[in-house]
Amino acid sequence: LKASERMRPYNFAPGPAAIPEDVLREAAADMLDWHGCGVGVMEMSHRGKEFMQIAAQAQSDLRELLAVPANFRILFMQGGGLGENAIVPMNLSRGGLVDFVQTGGWSKKSIAEARRYADVAVAATNAGRPDSAIPDPSTWAIRPDASYVHICSNETVDGIEFHALPDLKALGSDAPLVVDCSSHILSRAIDWSRVGLAFAGAQKNIGPAGLTLVFVRDDLLGHALPITPSVFDYKVVADNDSMFNTPPTWAIYIAGLTFKWIKAQGGVAAMDALAAEKSALVYAALDASGGFYVNRVAPGSRSRMNLPFWLRDESLDDAFLAGAKERGLLALKGHKSVGGMRASLYNAMPLAGAQALAAYLHDFATRHG
Ligand code: PMP
Repeated sequence: LKASERMRPYNFAPGPAAIPEDVLREAAADMLDWHGCGVGVMEMSHRGKEFMQIAAQAQSDLRELLAVPANFRILFMQGGGLGENAIVPMNLSRGGLVDFVQTGGWSKKSIAEARRYADVAVAATNAGRPDSAIPDPSTWAIRPDASYVHICSNETVDGIEFHALPDLKALGSDAPLVVDCSSHILSRAIDWSRVGLAFAGAQKNIGPAGLTLVFVRDDLLGHALPITPSVFDYKVVADNDSMFNTPPTWAIYIAGLTFKWIKAQGGVAAMDALAAEKSALVYAALDASGGFYVNRVAPGSRSRMNLPFWLRDESLDDAFLAGAKERGLLALKGHKSVGGMRASLYNAMPLAGAQALAAYLHDFATRHG
Protein backbone atom coordinates (compact mmCIF):
# COMPACT_ATOMS: atom_id res chain seq x y z
CA LEU A 1 0.00 0.00 0.00
CA LYS A 2 1.11 3.56 -0.68
CA ALA A 3 1.33 5.83 2.37
CA SER A 4 -1.73 7.77 1.18
CA GLU A 5 -3.86 4.59 1.13
CA ARG A 6 -2.86 3.52 4.62
CA MET A 7 -4.31 4.82 7.87
CA ARG A 8 -0.91 5.31 9.49
CA PRO A 9 2.73 5.33 8.32
CA TYR A 10 5.16 2.54 9.22
CA ASN A 11 7.12 3.58 12.29
CA PHE A 12 10.62 2.09 12.49
CA ALA A 13 11.52 3.95 15.71
CA PRO A 14 13.82 2.18 18.19
CA GLY A 15 11.78 3.06 21.27
CA PRO A 16 9.49 4.50 22.27
CA ALA A 17 8.21 2.65 19.27
CA ALA A 18 5.18 1.54 17.31
CA ILE A 19 2.26 0.08 19.28
CA PRO A 20 -0.25 -2.21 17.53
CA GLU A 21 -3.02 -0.10 16.00
CA ASP A 22 -5.70 -2.33 17.59
CA VAL A 23 -4.22 -1.57 21.02
CA LEU A 24 -4.22 2.18 20.39
CA ARG A 25 -7.84 2.08 19.21
CA GLU A 26 -8.99 0.11 22.23
CA ALA A 27 -7.14 2.45 24.60
CA ALA A 28 -8.63 5.48 22.82
CA ALA A 29 -12.14 4.07 23.16
CA ASP A 30 -11.58 3.42 26.87
CA MET A 31 -9.88 6.74 27.56
CA LEU A 32 -12.86 8.46 29.21
CA ASP A 33 -14.65 5.46 30.65
CA TRP A 34 -13.08 2.06 31.23
CA HIS A 35 -15.68 -0.71 30.89
CA GLY A 36 -18.51 1.47 32.16
CA CYS A 37 -16.91 2.32 35.51
CA GLY A 38 -17.17 6.05 34.76
CA VAL A 39 -13.49 6.95 34.76
CA GLY A 40 -10.51 6.14 32.57
CA VAL A 41 -7.59 3.94 33.64
CA MET A 42 -5.27 6.91 34.27
CA GLU A 43 -7.73 8.26 36.83
CA MET A 44 -8.31 5.16 38.97
CA SER A 45 -6.74 4.12 42.24
CA HIS A 46 -4.05 1.51 41.79
CA ARG A 47 -5.59 -0.28 44.77
CA GLY A 48 -9.15 -0.31 43.45
CA LYS A 49 -10.64 -3.56 42.20
CA GLU A 50 -10.71 -2.37 38.57
CA PHE A 51 -7.00 -1.66 38.35
CA MET A 52 -6.04 -4.67 40.48
CA GLN A 53 -7.88 -6.77 37.91
CA ILE A 54 -6.08 -5.04 35.00
CA ALA A 55 -2.66 -5.59 36.61
CA ALA A 56 -3.38 -9.22 37.56
CA GLN A 57 -4.58 -10.03 34.05
CA ALA A 58 -1.53 -8.35 32.48
CA GLN A 59 0.75 -10.34 34.72
CA SER A 60 -0.92 -13.68 34.06
CA ASP A 61 -1.00 -13.08 30.29
CA LEU A 62 2.70 -12.21 30.34
CA ARG A 63 3.48 -15.33 32.39
CA GLU A 64 1.55 -17.44 29.90
CA LEU A 65 3.11 -15.80 26.80
CA LEU A 66 6.68 -16.37 27.99
CA ALA A 67 5.97 -19.63 29.88
CA VAL A 68 7.50 -18.13 33.01
CA PRO A 69 7.95 -20.90 35.61
CA ALA A 70 6.29 -20.66 39.03
CA ASN A 71 9.61 -20.09 40.81
CA PHE A 72 10.08 -16.77 39.01
CA ARG A 73 8.41 -13.58 40.23
CA ILE A 74 7.24 -11.03 37.67
CA LEU A 75 7.70 -7.45 38.92
CA PHE A 76 6.28 -4.28 37.38
CA MET A 77 8.84 -1.61 38.20
CA GLN A 78 10.00 1.86 37.15
CA GLY A 79 13.44 3.24 36.38
CA GLY A 80 13.91 1.73 32.92
CA GLY A 81 16.83 -0.29 31.64
CA LEU A 82 19.33 2.22 32.97
CA GLY A 83 17.68 2.03 36.37
CA GLU A 84 18.10 -1.74 36.33
CA ASN A 85 21.81 -1.27 35.60
CA ALA A 86 22.06 -0.04 39.20
CA ILE A 87 19.16 -1.98 40.72
CA VAL A 88 20.51 -5.39 39.64
CA PRO A 89 23.94 -5.00 41.27
CA MET A 90 22.31 -3.51 44.38
CA ASN A 91 20.10 -6.61 44.70
CA LEU A 92 22.28 -9.41 43.37
CA SER A 93 25.97 -8.54 43.75
CA ARG A 94 26.11 -8.91 47.56
CA GLY A 95 28.94 -6.40 47.22
CA GLY A 96 31.07 -9.01 45.45
CA LEU A 97 32.18 -9.87 41.95
CA VAL A 98 30.10 -9.36 38.83
CA ASP A 99 31.08 -10.51 35.33
CA PHE A 100 29.87 -9.00 32.09
CA VAL A 101 29.92 -9.91 28.44
CA GLN A 102 30.35 -6.73 26.42
CA THR A 103 28.72 -6.89 23.01
CA GLY A 104 27.83 -3.25 22.27
CA GLY A 105 26.75 0.10 23.63
CA TRP A 106 24.11 -1.09 26.09
CA SER A 107 26.21 -3.73 27.81
CA LYS A 108 28.97 -1.14 28.00
CA LYS A 109 26.64 1.23 29.84
CA SER A 110 25.60 -1.57 32.19
CA ILE A 111 29.25 -2.25 32.99
CA ALA A 112 29.96 1.40 33.81
CA GLU A 113 26.99 1.62 36.17
CA ALA A 114 27.70 -1.69 37.93
CA ARG A 115 31.24 -0.53 38.74
CA ARG A 116 29.68 1.84 41.27
CA TYR A 117 28.37 -1.11 43.32
CA ALA A 118 30.52 -4.15 42.63
CA ASP A 119 33.89 -5.48 41.53
CA VAL A 120 33.26 -5.76 37.80
CA ALA A 121 35.19 -7.70 35.17
CA VAL A 122 34.58 -8.18 31.47
CA ALA A 123 34.51 -11.92 30.81
CA ALA A 124 34.44 -11.49 27.03
CA THR A 125 33.98 -8.75 24.47
CA ASN A 126 33.44 -8.38 20.74
CA ALA A 127 35.11 -4.95 20.77
CA GLY A 128 37.61 -4.66 17.96
CA ARG A 129 36.06 -7.42 15.85
CA PRO A 130 35.08 -6.02 12.45
CA ASP A 131 32.07 -8.38 12.30
CA SER A 132 31.03 -7.72 15.95
CA ALA A 133 30.36 -11.45 16.40
CA ILE A 134 29.31 -12.44 19.92
CA PRO A 135 32.24 -14.30 21.49
CA ASP A 136 31.61 -18.02 21.83
CA PRO A 137 30.57 -18.78 25.43
CA SER A 138 33.29 -21.44 25.69
CA THR A 139 35.82 -18.57 25.62
CA TRP A 140 34.21 -16.52 28.41
CA ALA A 141 36.42 -15.98 31.46
CA ILE A 142 33.84 -16.26 34.24
CA ARG A 143 35.25 -15.91 37.73
CA PRO A 144 34.42 -18.89 39.97
CA ASP A 145 32.97 -16.63 42.67
CA ALA A 146 31.03 -14.26 40.39
CA SER A 147 27.66 -13.26 41.94
CA TYR A 148 26.15 -13.19 38.48
CA VAL A 149 26.97 -12.84 34.78
CA HIS A 150 25.26 -10.05 32.82
CA ILE A 151 24.55 -10.05 29.08
CA CYS A 152 22.50 -7.78 26.84
CA SER A 153 20.65 -10.26 24.66
CA ASN A 154 19.82 -7.67 22.00
CA GLU A 155 22.03 -4.63 21.49
CA THR A 156 19.57 -2.03 20.26
CA VAL A 157 22.13 0.41 18.82
CA ASP A 158 24.60 -2.05 17.34
CA GLY A 159 22.10 -4.57 15.98
CA ILE A 160 23.62 -7.62 17.68
CA GLU A 161 21.48 -10.41 19.11
CA PHE A 162 22.01 -13.62 21.07
CA HIS A 163 19.97 -16.18 19.15
CA ALA A 164 20.33 -18.59 22.07
CA LEU A 165 21.10 -17.86 25.71
CA PRO A 166 24.40 -19.21 27.03
CA ASP A 167 24.25 -22.23 29.33
CA LEU A 168 26.47 -21.12 32.21
CA LYS A 169 26.11 -24.47 33.98
CA ALA A 170 27.59 -26.21 30.96
CA LEU A 171 30.51 -23.77 31.23
CA GLY A 172 31.06 -24.91 34.82
CA SER A 173 29.60 -21.79 36.46
CA ASP A 174 26.84 -21.71 39.06
CA ALA A 175 26.41 -17.95 38.69
CA PRO A 176 22.92 -16.79 37.75
CA LEU A 177 22.63 -15.28 34.28
CA VAL A 178 21.22 -11.74 34.17
CA VAL A 179 19.73 -10.74 30.83
CA ASP A 180 18.87 -7.26 29.58
CA CYS A 181 16.27 -8.23 26.98
CA SER A 182 14.75 -4.75 26.68
CA SER A 183 14.71 -4.58 22.92
CA HIS A 184 13.60 -8.08 21.92
CA ILE A 185 11.41 -9.30 24.75
CA LEU A 186 8.39 -11.26 23.46
CA SER A 187 9.94 -11.76 20.03
CA ARG A 188 11.23 -15.21 20.98
CA ALA A 189 10.90 -17.76 23.75
CA ILE A 190 13.18 -17.53 26.80
CA ASP A 191 14.90 -20.64 28.15
CA TRP A 192 14.30 -19.95 31.84
CA SER A 193 16.48 -22.88 32.90
CA ARG A 194 19.44 -20.70 31.87
CA VAL A 195 18.25 -17.46 33.51
CA GLY A 196 18.43 -16.02 37.03
CA LEU A 197 16.97 -12.62 36.24
CA ALA A 198 15.77 -10.87 33.10
CA PHE A 199 14.67 -7.27 32.73
CA ALA A 200 13.20 -5.14 29.97
CA GLY A 201 11.95 -1.62 29.52
CA ALA A 202 8.50 -1.79 27.95
CA GLN A 203 8.91 1.07 25.50
CA LYS A 204 10.36 -0.97 22.64
CA ASN A 205 8.69 -4.25 21.96
CA ILE A 206 5.66 -3.78 24.22
CA GLY A 207 4.66 -0.16 23.98
CA PRO A 208 4.52 2.41 26.74
CA ALA A 209 7.53 4.05 28.38
CA GLY A 210 7.58 4.14 32.18
CA LEU A 211 7.19 0.42 32.89
CA THR A 212 10.11 -1.93 33.48
CA LEU A 213 9.51 -5.67 33.62
CA VAL A 214 11.65 -7.80 35.90
CA PHE A 215 11.57 -11.61 36.04
CA VAL A 216 13.52 -12.87 39.03
CA ARG A 217 14.10 -16.38 40.35
CA ASP A 218 12.80 -16.43 43.89
CA ASP A 219 16.03 -17.67 45.52
CA LEU A 220 17.68 -14.41 44.40
CA LEU A 221 15.31 -12.25 46.46
CA GLY A 222 16.27 -10.85 49.83
CA HIS A 223 19.96 -10.03 49.38
CA ALA A 224 19.83 -6.31 48.59
CA LEU A 225 22.63 -4.04 49.78
CA PRO A 226 21.53 -1.81 52.70
CA ILE A 227 21.76 1.31 50.49
CA THR A 228 19.07 -0.07 48.14
CA PRO A 229 16.00 2.20 48.02
CA SER A 230 12.99 0.19 49.25
CA VAL A 231 11.10 0.79 46.00
CA PHE A 232 14.00 -0.88 44.14
CA ASP A 233 14.45 -3.81 46.53
CA TYR A 234 13.14 -6.80 44.55
CA LYS A 235 11.96 -8.57 47.71
CA VAL A 236 9.97 -5.55 48.86
CA VAL A 237 8.45 -5.16 45.39
CA ALA A 238 7.67 -8.90 45.16
CA ASP A 239 6.21 -9.10 48.68
CA ASN A 240 3.88 -6.23 47.78
CA ASP A 241 2.92 -7.64 44.38
CA SER A 242 4.43 -4.58 42.63
CA MET A 243 2.15 -2.27 44.65
CA PHE A 244 4.63 -1.11 47.31
CA ASN A 245 4.40 2.32 45.74
CA THR A 246 2.12 3.58 42.97
CA PRO A 247 3.00 1.60 39.86
CA PRO A 248 2.90 3.12 36.36
CA THR A 249 -0.78 2.29 35.97
CA TRP A 250 -1.35 3.58 32.43
CA ALA A 251 1.75 1.83 31.11
CA ILE A 252 0.70 -1.45 32.76
CA TYR A 253 -2.74 -1.14 31.18
CA ILE A 254 -1.33 -0.55 27.68
CA ALA A 255 1.18 -3.37 28.15
CA GLY A 256 -1.73 -5.62 29.15
CA LEU A 257 -3.58 -4.76 25.95
CA THR A 258 -0.42 -5.55 23.97
CA PHE A 259 -0.11 -8.94 25.71
CA LYS A 260 -3.71 -9.72 24.74
CA TRP A 261 -2.93 -8.64 21.17
CA ILE A 262 0.13 -10.92 21.01
CA LYS A 263 -1.97 -13.84 22.27
CA ALA A 264 -4.53 -13.16 19.54
CA GLN A 265 -1.75 -13.15 16.91
CA GLY A 266 -0.69 -16.65 17.97
CA GLY A 267 1.61 -15.85 20.88
CA VAL A 268 5.39 -15.61 21.04
CA ALA A 269 5.83 -18.42 18.47
CA ALA A 270 3.97 -16.27 15.92
CA MET A 271 6.06 -13.21 16.84
CA ASP A 272 9.21 -15.32 16.48
CA ALA A 273 8.24 -16.49 12.98
CA LEU A 274 7.25 -12.95 11.96
CA ALA A 275 10.55 -11.53 13.25
CA ALA A 276 12.46 -14.12 11.22
CA GLU A 277 10.52 -13.30 8.07
CA LYS A 278 10.66 -9.51 8.38
CA SER A 279 14.35 -9.31 9.23
CA ALA A 280 15.31 -11.79 6.49
CA LEU A 281 13.53 -9.60 3.93
CA VAL A 282 15.31 -6.43 4.98
CA TYR A 283 18.77 -8.01 5.38
CA ALA A 284 18.34 -9.61 1.94
CA ALA A 285 17.60 -6.20 0.43
CA LEU A 286 20.68 -4.71 2.15
CA ASP A 287 22.93 -7.60 1.11
CA ALA A 288 21.69 -7.58 -2.49
CA SER A 289 22.67 -3.93 -2.96
CA GLY A 290 26.23 -4.70 -4.04
CA GLY A 291 27.71 -2.62 -1.22
CA PHE A 292 25.40 0.37 -1.67
CA TYR A 293 24.21 -0.42 1.88
CA VAL A 294 26.53 -1.84 4.52
CA ASN A 295 25.87 -3.94 7.65
CA ARG A 296 28.99 -5.80 8.80
CA VAL A 297 27.55 -7.82 11.69
CA ALA A 298 28.32 -11.55 11.39
CA PRO A 299 25.14 -13.29 10.14
CA GLY A 300 24.90 -15.46 13.28
CA SER A 301 24.88 -12.37 15.54
CA ARG A 302 22.60 -10.11 13.50
CA SER A 303 19.60 -8.71 15.34
CA ARG A 304 16.10 -9.44 14.06
CA MET A 305 14.73 -6.41 15.90
CA ASN A 306 17.17 -3.57 15.24
CA LEU A 307 18.86 -3.48 11.84
CA PRO A 308 21.51 -0.77 11.55
CA PHE A 309 22.90 0.01 8.11
CA TRP A 310 24.97 2.67 6.44
CA LEU A 311 24.82 4.11 2.93
CA ARG A 312 28.27 3.73 1.38
CA ASP A 313 27.88 7.32 0.16
CA GLU A 314 26.84 9.24 3.28
CA SER A 315 26.08 12.33 1.21
CA LEU A 316 22.86 10.50 0.20
CA ASP A 317 21.66 10.10 3.81
CA ASP A 318 19.32 13.08 3.77
CA ALA A 319 17.81 12.12 0.41
CA PHE A 320 17.32 8.56 1.68
CA LEU A 321 15.45 9.72 4.78
CA ALA A 322 13.35 12.26 2.86
CA GLY A 323 12.35 9.66 0.26
CA ALA A 324 11.48 7.19 3.00
CA LYS A 325 9.27 9.72 4.75
CA GLU A 326 7.46 10.40 1.48
CA ARG A 327 6.59 6.69 1.33
CA GLY A 328 5.38 6.70 4.91
CA LEU A 329 8.50 4.98 6.29
CA LEU A 330 9.36 6.91 9.45
CA ALA A 331 12.19 7.14 11.98
CA LEU A 332 14.93 5.34 10.03
CA LYS A 333 17.76 7.61 11.16
CA GLY A 334 20.48 5.73 13.06
CA HIS A 335 21.53 6.30 16.67
CA LYS A 336 23.65 9.41 17.05
CA SER A 337 26.60 7.42 18.40
CA VAL A 338 26.98 5.37 15.21
CA GLY A 339 25.24 7.40 12.50
CA GLY A 340 23.76 5.86 9.38
CA MET A 341 20.32 4.28 9.48
CA ARG A 342 18.48 1.82 11.67
CA ALA A 343 15.24 -0.04 11.06
CA SER A 344 13.59 -1.39 14.19
CA LEU A 345 11.21 -4.24 13.37
CA TYR A 346 9.43 -4.81 16.65
CA ASN A 347 6.37 -7.03 17.05
CA ALA A 348 3.99 -4.20 16.12
CA MET A 349 5.61 -3.80 12.68
CA PRO A 350 3.50 -5.75 10.18
CA LEU A 351 5.08 -7.86 7.45
CA ALA A 352 3.85 -5.26 4.94
CA GLY A 353 6.03 -2.65 6.66
CA ALA A 354 9.16 -4.75 6.18
CA GLN A 355 8.12 -5.41 2.56
CA ALA A 356 7.65 -1.69 1.96
CA LEU A 357 11.08 -0.97 3.44
CA ALA A 358 12.76 -3.72 1.37
CA ALA A 359 11.14 -2.33 -1.79
CA TYR A 360 12.29 1.19 -0.95
CA LEU A 361 15.86 0.01 -0.24
CA HIS A 362 15.93 -1.61 -3.66
CA ASP A 363 14.41 1.38 -5.49
CA PHE A 364 16.65 3.95 -3.83
CA ALA A 365 19.80 1.93 -4.57
CA THR A 366 18.74 1.47 -8.18
CA ARG A 367 18.13 5.19 -8.61
CA HIS A 368 21.33 6.33 -6.88
CA GLY A 369 23.72 3.39 -7.27
N1 PMP B 1 19.02 -1.61 27.54
C1 PMP B 1 18.72 -1.68 26.24
C2 PMP B 1 19.04 -2.93 25.49
C3 PMP B 1 18.11 -0.60 25.60
O1 PMP B 1 17.82 -0.66 24.30
C4 PMP B 1 17.81 0.57 26.33
C5 PMP B 1 17.10 1.75 25.73
N2 PMP B 1 17.45 2.05 24.44
C6 PMP B 1 18.17 0.60 27.67
C7 PMP B 1 18.75 -0.50 28.25
C8 PMP B 1 17.90 1.82 28.50
O2 PMP B 1 16.56 1.91 28.76
P1 PMP B 1 15.89 3.16 29.49
O3 PMP B 1 16.03 4.32 28.57
O4 PMP B 1 14.49 2.68 29.67
O5 PMP B 1 16.61 3.37 30.77
